[in-house]
Amino acid sequence: MELKRTRHEKSRALFCEAQQYIPGGVNSPVRAFQSVGGTPRFMQSANGARITDADGRTYLDYICSWGPMVLGHNHPAVKAAVLQAVENGLSFGAATEAEVIMARLICDLVPSIDMVRMVNSGTEAVMSAIRAARGYTQKAKIIKFEGCYHGHFDALLVKAGSGVMTAGVPDSAGVPKGTAEDTLTAVYNDIDSVQKLFEDNKDKVAAVIIEPVAANMGVVLPEDGFLKQLREMCTANKALLIFDEVITGFRLGIDGAQGWFGVKPDLTTFGKIIGGGMPVGAYGGRRDVMQMIAPVGSVYQAGTLSGNPVAMAAGITQLKILRDNPEIYHRINSLGDRFYNELQKIAQQNGCTVNHIGSLGCLFFTDKPVTNYTSAKQADTARFARYFKKMLGDGVYLAPSQFEAMFLSYAHTDEDIDFTLQCANSFFEHEN
Ligand code: PLP
Repeated sequence: MELKRTRHEKSRALFCEAQQYIPGGVNSPVRAFQSVGGTPRFMQSANGARITDADGRTYLDYICSWGPMVLGHNHPAVKAAVLQAVENGLSFGAATEAEVIMARLICDLVPSIDMVRMVNSGTEAVMSAIRAARGYTQKAKIIKFEGCYHGHFDALLVKAGSGVMTAGVPDSAGVPKGTAEDTLTAVYNDIDSVQKLFEDNKDKVAAVIIEPVAANMGVVLPEDGFLKQLREMCTANKALLIFDEVITGFRLGIDGAQGWFGVKPDLTTFGKIIGGGMPVGAYGGRRDVMQMIAPVGSVYQAGTLSGNPVAMAAGITQLKILRDNPEIYHRINSLGDRFYNELQKIAQQNGCTVNHIGSLGCLFFTDKPVTNYTSAKQADTARFARYFKKMLGDGVYLAPSQFEAMFLSYAHTDEDIDFTLQCANSFFEHEN
């Protein structure tokens, strides 16, 4: 791949200035490159599988805006739909036909969802789903898993993954003790740890929330039968099962992780993917639970910009393309299998491990299996930082943290994969 070799003066200058006005110079912590060092690249444009920074350097992008760009950046049909929606006005604060189309699409595509409510981010979706679960069950406690990230909602910033794990502050300051008191944490892939929490908190647990594939402590897959056992345990304890599919929904397949593993949650949360790159989230599920939401029921939840017409246009277009072209999932999942299996061969010769499912994957700098938060934390983050820098230098833009996923899009080619494998190989060859 041809790279324009320039330095990154403009990004450096922008980062310096940004730090005067924005905490840490960024609007979301992981963007600051804190755990890998160096200058965060300020991006200017993106197309297909490539992203270009303010200095005009183009990278092969494995972040894909942290997931939503399943079709690749700046997809012509999504862009056209957005431009057309803009012609009609940016925001009405009133109901629109686009919201009905979006809701029907999601309900048709995901069998566990009878009704859905649009919000503006994954955080909002999770916060609202938890409130609905508490309202429905009349219980307060929530079980989450160590290393799972569900947005920056107070009650779930407990032993969280993603940027909070990267920054080494899995329990955030500013969360009052009382707010987190009802949050219980279990160990991913350890059903006995969930059983014990249910026993110790009899009739008090409103819901269990889980990333059905954990993608915020690196990528950690559920072991065989784990999600099914969780489903049975929730039913037996009259607690709702919430799948946070902000990463996996409409990425692993049209019916997300729940379709992949054949497990039906009571509620599901979605985020960025259903916005096709615009700020969107949604939560939905069983009709009797969703009927609890105002104005029908007594669980209040609202949003001035919820169901925004421009965001709906982008999201509907992306979802319809995915629905109508099943070869897209076939392609990105088989590309993922080839890429991550090849990467695993390189990794295991060099004391590393790759976890992957479909187009989602992670190279862990540890030779031990990674099945939960404790084993993810064994990874050598200093070694990851060296790998990250080498890949960035070669023009491969990875998430700047060991504890994030890699995302492939439909725009990635076999040549892109080969180039990336060559760069990874070269890192290990020249490491010492
Ligand atoms: N849930 C999961 C699984 C996520 O990965 C994220 C963000 O990456 C969120 C919730 C929060 O979404 P948002 O950043 O849109 O608030």
